[in-house]
This record gives sequence, C-alpha cells and structure tokens, in this order.
Amino acid sequence: MEFTFRSEREEVMKKEIEIVRENIRHACSRVNRSEKEVLLLGVSKTKPYSAIQEAYSLGIQDFGENKVQEIRDKYELMQEDCLMKDCPPHFHMIGTLQKNKVKYLPGKVVLLHSVDSVSLAEVIDKEFAKKDFIARILIEVNVAKEDSKSGFYIEELEEKVAEMAKLSHIEIRGLMTVAPFTEHPEENRPVFRALRESLFSLQKKFPSLPLAELSMGMSGDYEVAIEEGATIIRVGSFIFGERNYQKL
Ligand SMILES: *Cc1c(COP(=O)(O)O)cnc(C)c1O
Repeated sequence: MEFTFRSEREEVMKKEIEIVRENIRHACSRVNRSEKEVLLLGVSKTKPYSAIQEAYSLGIQDFGENKVQEIRDKYELMQEDCLMKDCPPHFHMIGTLQKNKVKYLPGKVVLLHSVDSVSLAEVIDKEFAKKDFIARILIEVNVAKEDSKSGFYIEELEEKVAEMAKLSHIEIRGLMTVAPFTEHPEENRPVFRALRESLFSLQKKFPSLPLAELSMGMSGDYEVAIEEGATIIRVGSFIFGERNYQKL
C-alpha cells in the first residue's frame, strides 16, 4: 500500500483534471470522436512553476502561457528539474505576442497559437530562421468580430494565409480562436462551427499545408468546442483555480 501526502491544492487539482478528462471522453463519444484527438492544454499563465509540476505529475504535458517572460522563467526552472528531464513538458504561446520578444521563443515553444498579423508572422519567420528552427503556428481568428479581440476576420483568411504560406521557417498548423465570454456555452457553438468550416475551406484551398489543428474552447465551453471539432482545448481556471493578477 502506498501512502502519499498531497497538498490540499493538489488534491483539488487531481479531482478537477479527472472531471475534465471525463467530460472530454463524454463530449467525444457524443460525436463519435476518439478522445486521443483532443489535446488538453493546461493554461498555467500567472501560476507558479510548482503548479506546473503538480499538473505534470497528474498527467498534463502541455502548458499554455501568454507572457514571453513567464515562458523564459518557467523554461529555465524546467531545465533544472530532474523529474521532468526524460519527458519535458511542452510550452505553448497563447497570448498576444510582441514582435520584439519573438527572439526569445525559438526552441522553447512547440506551438504559437496567436499569430494575428502577417507582419508578426514575418518576424517569427526571421527569428526562428536565425536559430535554425521552424515555427509551428496557428492563425488567430476573431470569428465574432469583437473589438476587444485580436485575430483575422474569416473573410480575409484566405488572402493572409497565402501570404504567410510563403515564409520558409513557418509551418501553419491550423486555426485558433478565443470565443466571446458567455455564461451559456451553447451560445458559442456557431463560433466554433465557423472556425471548423474555415479550416475545411483552407484545407481545400491549400492542400499542401499541414492544416489540422483547431485550438478552441476554454474552461467554460470546451465541451461544445470538442463537439464542433476542437483538437486542442485550453483549460486554465478550472484546473489551476482562479487567476489573481494583482498578486505581489
Ligand atoms: C487565459 C486563457 C485561456 C484559459 O482560460 P480559462 O477560462 O481560465 O480556462 C485560454 N485561452 C487563452 C488565449 C487565454 O488567454
């Protein structure tokens, strides 16, 4: 028999992750998808490295961050962490990216979810080329045309993807969206569906591009997103607890 002492926080996290995995299974089975098609990204932004360690020990391997500095700090701690050496976690950049910080990312992130302009893609291409890396990116789409959100409109995707496809050190892997905030996840179904349909039409237009990913769905609406075809869901507060941006 094994006795382990877990912190209360870790016990809570364990339960929450079990609930999310259960919900993923159910959402997949409702639409005849395999749960293996859905990557659960733990959004660890603003949380300490110890939260990543806990989630990692509970089977989460991919983490979403929205600040370059936080990725650099956590990446460094991860490299010193012998428990993670054999199978290091993957970092995903999911936040608005400033061009002057792109140079810190080659080698540290497996996927950039939030490419919202051609000029940003050009900087990513240049900085990743310098270090001989290929950047895997998702194109951010502002499906609902909210003023507060970045991303391309659906109507301009084809033209912009054609421009970005010319860049040699970028691989366009799919689309990402941040759906409107709502108390009723069902309201975001048309948003998720529109993103999936946009991906389908891009796949037809650009058969040589590796367009496969749909990064959509967060703590409040990931089940609907899965039913509409999400391949990556980004779950933060439900796993890690509420974020406190005022923290000292
Ligand atoms: C913070 C964030 C999330 C996670 O949001 P929760 O509602 O806490 O799950 C997902 N995606 C992006 C782009 C984010 O910035």
